[in-house]
Amino acid sequence: MIREVPCKACDAPMVFVRVEKKEGGERIMPLDAKPSPEKGRWFINENEGDGTRDDPHRAYYTSPNDPEFRKRRDANLLHTPHHATCPEADQFRKKKESKNAR
Ligand SMILES: [Zn+2]
Repeated sequence: MIREVPCKACDAPMVFVRVEKKEGGERIMPLDAKPSPEKGRWFINENEGDGTRDDPHRAYYTSPNDPEFRKRRDANLLHTPHHATCPEADQFRKKKESKNAR
């Protein structure tokens, strides 16, 4: 089962996933738990990892050119990164900017 955790800023349910970076290695990011057929590009494999911060599920980027894309989109299995939809994302950004400005 996909494990959901609430966003600390807006309380929306998120899923922490591990993704491969283009330059190699991995990073961890939160996806919206609610799939988005319009903007979703990330497919969560709930069988990899247990969904905790220490052992996140794995997610795979699905491009619209990918043969799996339509299937996953139609099954409502594609998610967006939470920072793209979080109403408090601006707040995080401002905090970072003021830090960098110093
Ligand atoms: Zn949020």
